This record gives sequence, C-alpha cells and structure tokens, in this order.
Amino acid sequence: MGKYRVLGSFLDRIYRNNLNDNFNDVDADIQAQKKRVDDLIIANPSPSEVQDARLGFPVLRDKLVDVDAQLAEKATKSEEGIRTSQSNPTNFSGAIVTIIDDDARPDFRTVWKPILTDNPSVKIDIAVVKDWTENGSSLSLSELLELQNQGHGILCHTAHHEASYSITPENAEADYPVAINWMKDNGLKGYEYLVYPGGLSKSTVSIKNIARKHFKYAISTESAGDYAVTPVDNWCIGRINGDAKTLDELKAAVDYAKANKIWLILMTHSHVLLSAGSQKMRDFIAYVQLQNVPIMKFEEAVKYKGNAVALGEHTAENSLFIGVDSSSKGLLKQEIGTWTPSLIGLTTAGTHTYSTRKGDWMKIGKLMIATFDINIASSGLDATMAGSLRITGLPFTSQTISRSSLEYNILNLGTNFTSILAAVNAPDNVIRLFKTGNGVATTFVNASDIPAGQSVIFRGQVMCHIS
Ligand SMILES: [Zn+2]
Repeated sequence: MGKYRVLGSFLDRIYRNNLNDNFNDVDADIQAQKKRVDDLIIANPSPSEVQDARLGFPVLRDKLVDVDAQLAEKATKSEEGIRTSQSNPTNFSGAIVTIIDDDARPDFRTVWKPILTDNPSVKIDIAVVKDWTENGSSLSLSELLELQNQGHGILCHTAHHEASYSITPENAEADYPVAINWMKDNGLKGYEYLVYPGGLSKSTVSIKNIARKHFKYAISTESAGDYAVTPVDNWCIGRINGDAKTLDELKAAVDYAKANKIWLILMTHSHVLLSAGSQKMRDFIAYVQLQNVPIMKFEEAVKYKGNAVALGEHTAENSLFIGVDSSSKGLLKQEIGTWTPSLIGLTTAGTHTYSTRKGDWMKIGKLMIATFDINIASSGLDATMAGSLRITGLPFTSQTISRSSLEYNILNLGTNFTSILAAVNAPDNVIRLFKTGNGVATTFVNASDIPAGQSVIFRGQVMCHIS
C-alpha cells in the first residue's frame, strides 16, 4: 500500500481507525494533486477561448462542475413542478388558512413566539427582508433558521423592502435575485415564494412580470383581494389584513372561506399586533381550529390550492390557469347553471301553466350548451297564444347561428314538413321554432299548428358561441 497504513486481519477498533485514516489521507492526496494540476494549468498560458469559457473560475473544470450542479438543481426543480401538478393525493377540497407574518420584526419574539410555543401544531410563514436581517432590525438569521427547523416557512420579502406599488421594474429586477441568492446561501428555503412589500394590484403587470421570472408564487395584500380564490393568480395572490380586521371580521372571513371551500391567507405584522394585543391571533387560531379548518404554511397549502398550469397573464382573457383542485380559468373555464324557459307566441305571448319547465346550461370557455324541457298540459295551455312560437329566457347571447332538432309531441305542421328545429340567430338570445321538410321552404312553427285540446312538449338543446 506504499505510504498508507497496512490493514490487519482483525476487524477491531485499530482496523477501523486505520481504514478511516487511509481514506482521509487518500482524499488529502487527491486534493493536493488537483491543486497541483490546477496550478500547472493556471501557470501555463491557455488559449484565449479556454480563458473566456472559465467565466470567473480559476480553471475550466471548476466551471463545468458548477454548470453540472446547476443543471442538477434545475432538473430537481422541474421534477418538483411535475410533482406539484400531481399533488393533493387525498383530494382534500375544503378551506385552508395560511398565516404570513411580514417583516420578522423583533416584536415577533413577544407576539408570535409565545403563540407558536403554546400551539406547536400551528405552522406559519415569516416573510423576511435581507437588509433588515443583516442590520439587526429584524430577527437574526439564527432565529429564522430555528423557526424553519421547527417547521415554519421562511418566505422572501425582497432585499431592500422597496414598496411593490412604486418600485420600478428595473429596481425589482435588481432586488429579487439578490434576496433569493442571500436566502439560498443561508439555507432559508422559501426563496421561491415572494411576499410583495406594501402589496401589489393585480393589474400592475410590469412588476408581476419580474416576479414571474424569479418566483413560483407571489403573495400580495388586500389590494389583490381578501381571498385566494382558485385558480389563483400565481404572481398576485390576495391576502386579508389580519392587523386591521377585528376578530369578528376575521371569524366572518373564516366562515366564508369554509362555506365556499376557499383559501384564506392572513397577513400580520408583529409590531402592529403588539399594540393591538396578540390575544386576537390566539382567538383567531382557536376559532379556525374549532371550525376544523386546517392551518397550513404556504408551501403545504399550495399543494391543495396552488396551480398545476399557469399560462399567460391571469388578468388577460387569453390565459389559462388550472388549479390542482381542478378549478380553471380561461379557455377551459367551465360553469354550469339553470334557466327558466318560457314558450311564447310572437303576436300574443300567452300565459301558460307549465307541468314541466326547466333549463340547464353549461359554459366551456366560449361554448354554451343550453337544454330546455317544456311540458304544458292542454288544460294549462293559454289558447290566446298567437303567432310564431319562441322560447325565451336563454341566459347568454349567441354570437353564431345555431340549428338543432328537438322533441315534440303532436303538431299540424302542414304538407311536406317533416321536422322542427330549435333555431338561434346571432346575436340573439331567443330560440325560434322552425319547421322544415322536403321541397318546402323552412318557416316558423305557428301557435295555430298546435291542435285544439292538445298538450305541448318541447325538449331539446341549443349549442352556440357566446362572447
Ligand atoms: Zn413588509
């Protein structure tokens, strides 16, 4: 073995120590060799192309190792992205409460620390500012790391805390990467989540576009709305003001979130709560727990309320957002509802007593499908109804001409007419009843086509493009 220790055949302490010492010596020798080779490379002139490719590293190999590490990190991130879209394995769809305390001021120690000690299962987020952590005007780095080790989230609140509603895109572009790198370098894990200092309106797209480049999500204040309704705007999520709202107002917000199964994110500032008393937060947490609404830190909550797909700008019509809870916005947005159809004559509308009178509609993006079911017994039919037959009450205005067949019972359509159609013109929200057949011009079904003493049935659907 040359210079290294000879290992005996006994598997005892001496054997183990010698083995470990040998590994250490081998490692030291490898490092020494690497340095020797590096020094050799540095001492000898390299082609300018190689020097250019080093990009600040002493030797090209170090640069390539760094690139490998960056690629590995990117690969992990994209795997996480896929995992996020496949999350929520329990299909939990209820309300969630997330609490974010901004600024990590020293008052956190007297306001939030005792609450968290008394409620060890409650995990919150703390939005931290690089400058303030470094100059001692907020919690220290070691305090933040301790909170993180206890399961709390540490989110990015920028490097300089310049208000988001007045910061220039250039300053935001200069600030965000500095804050992110500082968090990475110091082991603070929530660097993919930005909390806008001062909040941001959803329409301030110029700043959202900078956040979009650097963060997975960005959280605003009430200026983006009280609730984080899914599918959320990844780069401007609404958050209710826990400092300003009274306990009763906050309880009402929890009730609303619970009834509508939505995400309630609470903003607090320890230095503001201090003057109001931290009892409000203790009472708030107790109330949320009483309502069986889970309190989750942001990183956990996005697995249930975040997005699987976020394409384009949320406030623009030509965007597509799909939440992991299957909510969607944009091209695939789906809505359903009901409507009440009325059978009328164009000359005299008539007032009927309906045996069945119902309508459903489904909207998928700009496609609307509306069904109707009308049944009027002969005793319920207003015999004064006169003129062309129409069905009114469609909840949307069609932008395209639509024709589809429908079910009816007995009508005197006339010679060569074989069927009737539910017709929608454009733009219009009225269904006209047409009769059509072989060798005859399509024309309106008239009230006089209903035989005397006959019940009336019309069942069908129209499908149109709406604006
Ligand atoms: Zn702040």
